[in-house]
Amino acid sequence: MDIVIVGAGPTGCFLGIAWSRRGHRVVVVDRAEPPATDDSWPGRGVGQFHQPHFFRPQVTDALNAEMPDVVAALETAGAELRTGTYVRTGEANRTIMLRREKLDPVLWRSLAAEPNVTWVRATARGVASAPGGRIRVQTTAGPLEGDLVVNTSGKVRGFADDLRAPAESVDGRVSYISRQYQLSPDGREHLPEQLSGQWLFEGYDAIVFEHEPGVISVLFERLSDDRGLAGLRDSAAFDRAVAAIEPLALRVNPQYVRPLGVVRPGGRLISQYRGQLLPSGEVALPGLLHAGEAACSPSPSRGRGTATSLMQARKLLELVDSDLPRDEMTVAFHQWSHEHLRPWYVDQARDDLVSLHLWRDGDLDPDVAPASRLILEANADDESLHDQLAAYVQMQALPATLESLIPRTQQALLRGWRPALTPGPDAGELAKIIS
Ligand SMILES: Cc1cc2nc3c(=O)[nH]c(=O)nc-3n(C[C@H](O)[C@H](O)[C@H](O)COP(=O)(O)OP(=O)(O)OC[C@H]3O[C@@H](n4cnc5c(N)ncnc54)[C@H](O)[C@@H]3O)c2cc1C
Repeated sequence: MDIVIVGAGPTGCFLGIAWSRRGHRVVVVDRAEPPATDDSWPGRGVGQFHQPHFFRPQVTDALNAEMPDVVAALETAGAELRTGTYVRTGEANRTIMLRREKLDPVLWRSLAAEPNVTWVRATARGVASAPGGRIRVQTTAGPLEGDLVVNTSGKVRGFADDLRAPAESVDGRVSYISRQYQLSPDGREHLPEQLSGQWLFEGYDAIVFEHEPGVISVLFERLSDDRGLAGLRDSAAFDRAVAAIEPLALRVNPQYVRPLGVVRPGGRLISQYRGQLLPSGEVALPGLLHAGEAACSPSPSRGRGTATSLMQARKLLELVDSDLPRDEMTVAFHQWSHEHLRPWYVDQARDDLVSLHLWRDGDLDPDVAPASRLILEANADDESLHDQLAAYVQMQALPATLESLIPRTQQALLRGWRPALTPGPDAGELAKIIS
């Protein structure tokens, strides 16, 4: 089959490699320039490229199932593979610890090395049916044709927008701001054993994020319109904030840790879901499919984006392998997405509003069914619930698995339980410290 893939993010690369290895002829079109040979790759077509990424074990599972050599190449590029266990099945799993800016070049190069893959550097503008049941993609480098066209262009709108129902989306009105740090060779032994952590303060969250051996990020989540904390984008202000917050200061000890580059402000965290069909429920163009963040983009606060993207990609491989007629394939993918993907979007969107209620409204409403984040925290000390909670956290069970815990969480909220705050400056105090 001739397959055109629009967008070479993790989803497009994964699909391109897997289809090439199945003997399909694949054309990949991406507007961004390929990575430089010396691994310096300042930017890409996605804004989050330099923001911290946690790659869930589902990512490793997908790569191991289709392309274990790529996992080996990631290790060569510096990834640590951390071992864990899926509580539900007792099976071992592995988490890839590597920065996004090092992961993507490995995927791009693995894709480019595939014999059945052709690269086109261009922007895809539109798509329409062509003679012989084919599909034509209009690009800035000219038209490309395939039997199948897969839109993996991410969540930014622009390609094939009018060929499916509009996205559902929720703006959590929270933004990221982060900075990477390099540990000195002996730094690890002088820093707290538990490097990663998340601490909730009044008006913001602070997170320390372990990327790979020797590299961490500090990440603040703040209300997008909090002007005071917008000042964190200045490096000196960021340093002052880190020094003023005890768990951060302990981990970003200047004796053992130095900044790697500039502070990176991020855009608003918006969760989005978009099905495959027109508002009428019809297939717009048989053979056109949308996958990855182009279909489901849960906001990043639980690091689910790449996992849900590759879950979709695996489902698409299965559907294309099954040789279904193309319109049936679209309907089957739409239904699967609705059942297995959309719940993660809904869950994430509800979770993200918790910060808004706590920070903007000043409190949570106990009469509203609590979001999963609250269910987890309120029940974390109950050992008997450990497996149920962990199955959800590990994405082995859909969010519906937590529904039975809603009443007891609501009771806790009515009794006055609230997520624990860490002692430290509130948003107003932090704004003064950094101004
Ligand atoms: C701030 C932030 C933090 C995140 N953190 C995490 C995390 O911790 N863990 C996690 O799993 N996920 C995280 N994510 C999500 C993760 O980044 C995505 O899931 C991941 O990028 C996979 O997306 P993709 O391959 O579908 O699309 P993308 O990575 O967005 O790639 C799309 C590609 O399409 C190209 N493109 C776009 N339009 C066109 C066009 N018209 N023509 C040609 N090419 C085009 C772009 O150049 C790009 O290369 C985060 C997201 C954000 C915003």
